Amino acid sequence: KVWEHLELDDEGGRREVLPRLRAGATDLELKLRHRDGSVLWTLWNAAPDPDRGLVYAAGLDISERRRAENQIEHLAYHDALTGLPNRHLFVDRLDTALSRARRTGESLAVLFVDIDHFKSINDSLGHTAGDALLRTLAQRVRSALRGEDTVARLGGDEFTVLLAGLRDPEDVLRLTEKLHQTIRQPVDLAGREIAVSASIGVGFYPQDGDNAEQLLKNADLAMYRAKELGRDRTQFYTATMGARLLEHMNLEGRLRRALTTGELFLEYQPIVNLATSRVHTREALLRWHDPTRGTALPG
Ligand code: GH3
Ligand code: MG
Repeated sequence: KVWEHLELDDEGGRREVLPRLRAGATDLELKLRHRDGSVLWTLWNAAPDPDRGLVYAAGLDISERRRAENQIEHLAYHDALTGLPNRHLFVDRLDTALSRARRTGESLAVLFVDIDHFKSINDSLGHTAGDALLRTLAQRVRSALRGEDTVARLGGDEFTVLLAGLRDPEDVLRLTEKLHQTIRQPVDLAGREIAVSASIGVGFYPQDGDNAEQLLKNADLAMYRAKELGRDRTQFYTATMGARLLEHMNLEGRLRRALTTGELFLEYQPIVNLATSRVHTREALLRWHDPTRGTALPG
């Protein structure tokens, strides 16, 4: 009965499928198109009866199952809040773009975009408003780019952009400027006009990394530096950024240790009023005596 109302997807499909049914297919999935254009997914099992020159075939409508599978697949590769690709799909696309760039000698850029002070939006207007803002920003970033560029949400308030087939690195600068502008446009949130900004870090292939992980890491480092320099700006990755961050983390680690090993101590310093020569007050200074580096002093 199904056959009367449906046609095989195309001529090629028909040529390929009919012989398989005749040969006795098991669990053959066929996509059929109704005359009204709608699509039906079917599952076929066929048994030939050579004596009578017949093929017995039974088909099941599995469209519902297919839709569920497609949805699961979509969820696995997309961010549920914004509908943008997730990290997984982003890295896939980046890998593909990198293989291509290696062949053609083209360059590409990875942008790491992090919204500035996003926590304060959540804290002041609530998580729902924060979500709405993320959706709006996702849409804006998406529409500021070409169709072939990939925009992903890595999680939280972090987005990444893949710009492939770059001719002129200057194009990236123009584009990040455009992104800053569109992100700065006020958004109506719960009846209030809210304006936010973002910090952007950029890493280029091949200079700043030749694989996805390294490019993402370096773009992230550049973004971190943009935050340090006051936010609402773009920084291009430079080799010194990694060293700076390591130094910073090293210092933080040593300082944490210093707290537990008692390397920090207080010194009191009198403050004298020169007019009266009397001790006016005193200040308490926290000093750090590092066994290998000596005592840290201001300056
Ligand atoms: P900074 O300028 O340093 O980036 O400050 P920030 O406040 O934006 O801090 P950060 O980027 O480190 O933190 C992002 C915050 O985003 C952390 C979390 O509270 C919030 N967040 C993460 N995921 C979601 C989400 O799905 N929805 C909402 N509304 N908030 C989220
Ligand atoms: Mg942030």
